[in-house]
Formats: sequence, C-alpha cells, structure tokens
Amino acid sequence: MTVAASGARILDGEKVAAAMRAETASLVRAFVGEGRQGPRLDVILAGENPASLIYVRNKARAAEEVGILAEVHRLPAGATEGELLDLIASLNASDDVDGILVQMPLPDGIDPRKAIFAVDPAKDVDGFHPANSGRLWAGEDVLAPCTPSGIMELLDREGIRVEGREAVVIGRSEIVGKPMAALLLRRHATVTICHSRTADLALVCSRAEILVAAVGKAALVTGDFIRRGAVVIDVGMNRVTDPEEASRLFDGDPGRIEQVRSKGHTLVGDVHPAQARRKAGALTPVPGGVGPLTIAALLRNTMTAARARRGRR
Ligand code: NAP
Repeated sequence: MTVAASGARILDGEKVAAAMRAETASLVRAFVGEGRQGPRLDVILAGENPASLIYVRNKARAAEEVGILAEVHRLPAGATEGELLDLIASLNASDDVDGILVQMPLPDGIDPRKAIFAVDPAKDVDGFHPANSGRLWAGEDVLAPCTPSGIMELLDREGIRVEGREAVVIGRSEIVGKPMAALLLRRHATVTICHSRTADLALVCSRAEILVAAVGKAALVTGDFIRRGAVVIDVGMNRVTDPEEASRLFDGDPGRIEQVRSKGHTLVGDVHPAQARRKAGALTPVPGGVGPLTIAALLRNTMTAARARRGRR
C-alpha cells in the first residue's frame, strides 16, 4: 500500500495478488506431493477478439507459474454453438480436467448463457453457473466469481473492515455486480446495488463507506459520488485515446499522456482517478488494482475445484 501525495491510500492489487498466487502455488505443491496429478485448467477461446487473446494468454501463463497445467482450446470465429457445447461436454467428461473457463465475449450467434449453463458446476472456476451463484446467495462455500472474490481478498488483506459498513456496488452483472453484493452482504455490510436506472446515482453512492464501481464507463464516478475517506474499488477498464482527456483525468501526469501518444491509449477505470485521489481514503489503481486479483482468484478456484473433486481419492 502506498499513499498518494494528494491523499488516498493506493491499494496495491498486484502485491495482494502475488501473495494469493504464492499461497496457491504452495497448495498445488502439497496436492502433487500427495501423489496426484496437478490441477488442470482448460480455457476455451472462441473467435478472434484481440483483448480476449491477451486475457487468455495471461491466464494460461499465470496458471503455469503456480504449477497449474493450462490447456487452451481455440475455436474459429465461425464455430457454431453446437461445436462449443460439444467441447464443453467433452471437458466435463474428462477426469483430467479440473477447471473450465469459457472466455467471454463469445462470437455472434452463440448464446453465452447456454455455454455457462453447460459447464459442470464442479469445474465452473468462473463461478458463473446458476448452481454456484444460487449457492453463493444461500451463503454456502462455493466457487465464487473471480473478480469479487479477489476484491474481498484485497479488503481483508489491507485491513479494511466490511462488517456493519455501508457498501454501494454500481453494476448488477452476473460477473461482478451481483456476486460482489452477495459477498459483501455475507460479510455483514449493508449493501445497495445501483444500475443504469438508479435515480440520483451520485447521491446513493455518496453514502458509501465502501464503493465498488463495475460499470464499463470511463470516469463515471466523479468526486461528488465519493464520501470523504471512502474505500473506492474501481473494476472498470476503459481506453482513453485523447491525450487531453488523459491529462484531465490524471492531473497532467506526463507518463499517461506519453502512453496515449506512444501506444494510442491509456487505461482508465470507472472512477475519475484525479478526483478520487483527492476525496477517497483508499483507492484501487487502474491498471494494477482489480485485474491481477481476478487472475489470482481464478487460480485459487482451480486449486479448490481440484481438491474438492479429487482430494479424497
Ligand atoms: P456489464 O455486464 O456491462 O454491466 C455493467 C453494469 O453497469 C450494468 O448493471 C449496468 O446497468 C450498469 N450501468 C451501465 N451504465 C450505467 C450508468 N450510467 N449508471 C449506473 N449504472 C450503469 O459489465 P461487467 O461485466 O460487470 O463489467 C463492468 C466493468 O468492469 C467493465 O469495464 C469491464 O471491462 C470491467 N471488468 C474488469 C475486470 C477486471 O478483472 N479488472 C473483470 C470484469 C470486468 P443495467 O444492468 O441497468 O444495464
């Protein structure tokens, strides 16, 4: 954790993720040391989405670094829903496979819900299957979605109390918003979920002691959304391509402006970084906040799935 000159404590997601990965690596070593085949994660990448290609490569590399075998299955952009479902069925049936991840978004013509529903809940390391999301709301131990799990880990390891606090989550997706709210509620926060139809979003958010923004809109959360001293978790990852906008968002940070000029873009979250630094008590940066935690939680889920399925044999 570092403290920004302007105030907010910067929550180092990469450091917490590294600690989580080290713990998973040690669990993997113990699992293999008991004479078992190491955990295996199978990732399905359908189509040619360039961001997905990078995400899948990063997940596979991170898995191998902790001793998890990663297999990537590529389906061409023209693959049918039937081909995808057949592949999922064969991975469900394979005893060698512990975790299955279907990288989103899927090409047009393939219903993502059918893919999610097809994954064996015991191998659903993304935690998206309704059997797992239902059990999450029922308060059971479960493979929970990776981004909110990683965020809970960050709050805990940074010593941020959740119980009894007012938490507001912006976004109600199955991937982030809803499971985030479930995990905060389970830990006894008072939770409000906001979405695109929320009336006076800024007013609702300004009550939050813990504010999680998972929207997909660059810098939507401005200073007036933030209660002074609040913990602000920024899940969004958006590209800014205009150097002047980057300068406004990052208080003239020359590094960011240069990044836009050299790479064509810089990443900004759903939270206005300069305004949040002045108002929040603690803040996750983008990049280097929630992203690494998501991957670390995926690796942990894969280990958990392997242990649950094969641990007692
Ligand atoms: P999503 O499925 O598009 O959901 C976005 C949510 O934001 C929806 O619930 C939507 O409301 C709400 N919303 C949209 N515009 C709004 C507005 N003006 N005011 C209030 N709420 C609004 O997105 P997601 O999958 O949850 O992801 C959200 C962001 O997080 C994206 O930028 C994504 O790239 C990022 N993300 C990052 C990671 C990571 O590891 N760092 C992981 C996952 C996602 P409605 O339901 O009413 O439409």
